[in-house]
Amino acid sequence: MPDISPGRGIVSTIWLKVNNRMTAVKPQNKHINHFRPVTHRAEWVVVDQNTILQNGYVVVQAGLITETGKGKKFSTDSVVDHGNGVILPGLVNAHTHLELCALKNRVKPENGFQAWVQKLLAERASLKPETIQRESALGIEQLLSSGCIAAGDISTMGITKDLFIHSPLLGIWFQECLGNDSDASPACRKGPRQSISLAGHAPHTTSPELLRRLKAITSKGDLPFSIHLAESQEEAVFIANGEGEWADFLVERGIEFSSWGVGNSRTPVQHADQIGLLDSNTIAVHVIQSNEKDFKILQEKGSSVCLCLRSNHLLHGELPDVPSMLKNRIHLCLGTDSLASVDTLSIFDEMAFAANCFPEISPADILAMATQNGAKALGLDGLAGTLAPGATGSFLYLELSAGNEKQLMESIIHSAAQQTIQRIAA
Ligand SMILES: [Zn+2]
Repeated sequence: MPDISPGRGIVSTIWLKVNNRMTAVKPQNKHINHFRPVTHRAEWVVVDQNTILQNGYVVVQAGLITETGKGKKFSTDSVVDHGNGVILPGLVNAHTHLELCALKNRVKPENGFQAWVQKLLAERASLKPETIQRESALGIEQLLSSGCIAAGDISTMGITKDLFIHSPLLGIWFQECLGNDSDASPACRKGPRQSISLAGHAPHTTSPELLRRLKAITSKGDLPFSIHLAESQEEAVFIANGEGEWADFLVERGIEFSSWGVGNSRTPVQHADQIGLLDSNTIAVHVIQSNEKDFKILQEKGSSVCLCLRSNHLLHGELPDVPSMLKNRIHLCLGTDSLASVDTLSIFDEMAFAANCFPEISPADILAMATQNGAKALGLDGLAGTLAPGATGSFLYLELSAGNEKQLMESIIHSAAQQTIQRIAA
């Protein structure tokens, strides 16, 4: 007889949101034979944003999903009936900076973006490495407890690399480079679940020569390349005119930019395209200061755009034109940016914010950004962001009730951050 028992044996940790803090309340995972097939059943199973199964199940064996379906599927050895809620893919935070977790609430966004960045760097320099590491480790816990199974972590200091690699997170740890250092040649490593790749900071902080070099290294390794792009007006003015506050800032610091190819009336996206940075393995982060021509370029090149909407709202009081991006069929994913500019690293919170800012965007499109699209951007296509066979056996169960598919999707997007998030790790 199959073993059918509610919620028994497979759940690694249940995280409860109590007084706005995530608390691990019930580690289980006893007596698990990871090679034995296990069927997870729930009233709803969201395989991906377009495939919703009522009375659905997911079969996991040896850490991977082997089958999904609906109706009774109790022929395997063990069955876990999770209840009337929903099983869905773990979320993907495609852009965060764990090394800035220690700066939460330490830098107020006043006197403009440039002043904020300068204060941020000064504050970071005042912190002990052990403080940065401790808070970064808590940041990883926060990612996991808020339902994230994969992330893109950007690091200039290199301080979070080991933490990331030894965490259960899938995804990419990006070494970020900036400035004029054309000799920099950092190493990459591609792995099936975690990779090490490179990020250029931004086109107004990093020479085209260095950006080209970084992009060439990641292309050779068939790895994603990340860059902050078109985030601020200061950046857009500098790239278009070669002058303005940012040009003054570089001159003050003796940073030579005469060979950077700025001042040709291009937008940041056009500048990035001009120097060969945009292709289907590039993640352009933010993309606020952009126009229709830029959207066409991004679509043609197949680049991903990572939206960090809560951070954009706080730091710039502006948001990217997400509806136009969707109309142009740009590949959109979600990131939180760092705790220096958002309250949480939760992609559930990011989805709810996106839905509130852009009510015309469907829950299915928003869920795709938080799952499948993020997975694709990080080179995890098929492994994360879906519950189809071949995907990781690590996914989520949410306690919520829904009468139909529409209610279900609305509930996931708008209120899931308030629900109990149960990570299921095979
Ligand atoms: Zn960032």
